[in-house]
Parts: sequence; C-alpha cells; structure tokens
Amino acid sequence: MTIHAPKRDILPDLAAAIGEKHVLSAETDMAPYLVEERGLYRGEALAVARPGSTEEVAEVVRICARAGVPIVAQSGNTGLVGGGVPFGGIVLSLARLDRVRAVDPVNATMTVEAGCILARVQEAADAAGAFFPLSLGSEGSCRIGGNLATNAGGTAVLRYGNARELTLGLEVVLADGRIWNGLKGLRKDNTGYDLKHLFIGSEGTLGIITAAVLKLFPKPRLRATAFVAVDTPHAALTLFERLRAAHGDQLTAFEYIPRFGLEMVLRHAPGAVRPLESEYPGYALIELSSPQDHADLAEALETILGAALEDGLIQDATIAASEAQANALWHLRESLSEVQRQEGGSIKHDVAVPVSRVADFIDAASAACEAAMPGLRVCAFGHVGDGNVHFNLSQPVGMDKAAFIAEWGRFNRIIHDIVHEMGGSIAAEHGVGLIKRDELVHYKDPVAIDLMRAVKAALDPQGILNPGKVVPSAGPEILDAIPRAVR
Ligand code: ZN
Repeated sequence: MTIHAPKRDILPDLAAAIGEKHVLSAETDMAPYLVEERGLYRGEALAVARPGSTEEVAEVVRICARAGVPIVAQSGNTGLVGGGVPFGGIVLSLARLDRVRAVDPVNATMTVEAGCILARVQEAADAAGAFFPLSLGSEGSCRIGGNLATNAGGTAVLRYGNARELTLGLEVVLADGRIWNGLKGLRKDNTGYDLKHLFIGSEGTLGIITAAVLKLFPKPRLRATAFVAVDTPHAALTLFERLRAAHGDQLTAFEYIPRFGLEMVLRHAPGAVRPLESEYPGYALIELSSPQDHADLAEALETILGAALEDGLIQDATIAASEAQANALWHLRESLSEVQRQEGGSIKHDVAVPVSRVADFIDAASAACEAAMPGLRVCAFGHVGDGNVHFNLSQPVGMDKAAFIAEWGRFNRIIHDIVHEMGGSIAAEHGVGLIKRDELVHYKDPVAIDLMRAVKAALDPQGILNPGKVVPSAGPEILDAIPRAVR
C-alpha cells in the first residue's frame, strides 16, 4: 500500500543522479530496509536510494521534492521504535557516506559522515589518541547519522551526556534539497538559534543529517569495574549517590540489573558466568575510570564498597581484578537486551524519571504491572545513574505470545501514567518513531506539540520527510493504514 502515490516515475531520475546500481528496486534487495529491528513493523517503498555524497543526497531530495515523494532516511536501521520504516516513497540510505573527514586533536573534535558505523567512529578517535564516548548495544552496526537523528543514549550518558551533548556541528540536507553547512567545531557560538539541536533527535522529520562535528575526550587509561548485590532499587540509588559524591566525573557507569534479568542472562547468553556466589533481588554494575594512569581506582572502589557492606547497604560485591574480568561483568549487562526474546513475548518501555525518583518508579511500576497480570515477569534495568529505565515485561510462562503482545496498550497506560506523575518522559533514549507517536498526545504539553507541528511545517512544508513519524498527526491520519505485524 502506498501512502503518497508519486506523480511520476522518479526511478530514472534517481538512477541518472546517483548511478543505476545505487537505486535498488527489486524486492529482495529492498527487504532489509523495509523492516525494523524487532520486526514490529513491515513497510514498503518504491526504491532504496544509496547516494555516495552530500551533493548526491541533496539531488535525491530535490528529485523527490519536485515529485512530492516521501523520503525515509536510514543509516544503520537498528532503531527500536519504527522510526526508519517507510510506508511508501523511498528509503534514502546514508550507508555510503562513511568517511571520517577530519580529526582535530587540539580542538578535540572529529568530523564524520552520517554513514560511519559507530564502532568505526570510536576506533578513529582511538587511533588519534582520543576517546569518543557514545556507546550502545548496536555499536557494531548502527551508524552515527542515526545516533544523532535519534539522540542516542547508552551506557556512558551518566559521565559524557547523550548524542546531543557530544555534537558541536552538523551538515544537513533540507527538505527542499538545500545543504546547510553547520560544521563548525565551536564551543561557543551565540549567533542566534542553535539550529543543530532542531535536527538532533528529529528522527529524519526535519532534515537529513549528512555529517557532524563530534566532541572528543581524553582516553580513559584506568578503569575499575564492580558488580554489587542490593536488596532494593532504593539501596542501589543510595549507593549511586555515595559514589557520585566521592568520585564525581570518575563515575562513568551505574547500571541496574534485577534478579530476573541476571537469571535470563545466565540461562541464555553464551559465556555468561555467575558473578557472585548467591542470588540477590538486584544488582548494580559500576565503573570508575580516569585518564590518569596512576589513580588507584580499584582501591577507592574497595573502600567505598567495604563501607557499604558494613552498613548493610549492599549484600555482596566483586571488583574485577583484570580487564578480562571487567569485560565479563560488562558482558552480563550487554547481553540483557538480547536474551529477553528467548523468554517469549516482551513488552518494552524506554522511560526516564528524575534520578531522585528512579527507585520509586521501579517499585511502583513493578507492583502495578504485577497486579495487572499475575505471572508477569518484570525486567526493569538500565541506566539508573541518569534516570533511564528500560522497563520491560516478559510474558507469563506458558501464555500465548500474541495474546500477551496484544496487551501492549494496556501496559503503556499503566506505566506511562506513573512516569508522567513522577515528572518523567515516556521516550528516554530510543525516540518516538511510530510506536510512541500517539502516546505523546497523552503526556506531552499541548503547547509543546503545537510548537513541534509549527517547526515541522516550517522546515518541511510538503511533509515529505519521514511522514507520519514523531509528530502527533494534525494532518491526514496514516496510522490506520500502517500494517503492524508482530513477529
Ligand atoms: Zn539503554
């Protein structure tokens, strides 16, 4: 089904602009571009265009703009909210724009193209003697353009901030095909509106990011990693406060894992080893790091955890004695997303509350969900240090998977109401896409939604950039037309 029928066949124009072999229209070639990571949505497109330069991106956009054809920009297509799924029009893949254009060690910046795989960006920073801290589960396949378009978070936000905070400049192709060159690597620039922030997190609805100037940091030379047992989320939060007060910026990660989460990892993740002798209600994975190579972080961690044990704040702890042991502890945390699919249906929520409420939230939402469905297994985990909880629900054992997934809307209301009461956000780091678009109407300030619509109308008056995503619909309703197939 095509949402916007093109006025004429644009494929020959696209082929002339970027080369025939870079315009894919056979079903098998297009297949990987038409589904999202979890298989929740299956889309369709006229073609997939793979331009090789910013100028070619601009030419593709001009062709589509003239013909009124929608464009869904895609980089790694690893998103989790349906934001990259096309429903008609073309997919514009940025994968061929994969050059590191420049590294400036003194300015502590690097300029990269949107199609660079995140892990390659990290490696290029490393090769230049610096550190690019954005880190997330899909870093081996996600691309930086998508990370910026969704304002990605991950495990290092606590210390370094999210993608937005790591960006100093952008190059963007606008909806009319003009190129905005905002690739300045300045720490200070008050020449009017800070336009880059409009495009970061806009999920391809306002413009297509083609390159960025990213911030670099001193390489961490030492790290100390611990895995700690706690009785409650509140104990984890108190421990977090102590660590932050004692170590400030050296505290680079504080992740919470519930007992059910660790159980799943130990059951399903290859190579996972039980980190502590006994089982406990919850765990925290903690990392301190420093660019100094003489700081004794492990000793500092031992002191603070020893005091916490004595106080009864924590029940047990292990500190990695080697890099291999540290990696094994991180492996437990990093396996958590993947193993959930092996326990049947999973209903996922990516929410944030003020850090001060994060333990209250986990307690209240867990109790409400367990009361709503006996046998439900809550896996509330993640970036407790920045208030972002992945509040995921695994189906009761033996329940029909499709029947469980059909309850997604009911659990949205239960969980998002609690998030809202606590002054939180229903979309912390994965974005809005399709899956949360209409939830915004319930929870976002109506004035803010009006502003979003006004910005969208100003930057994309034809509505051709990723139509139907992010902005709650004020125009033609397309959601009913969108097939939502559950794998
Ligand atoms: Zn996360």
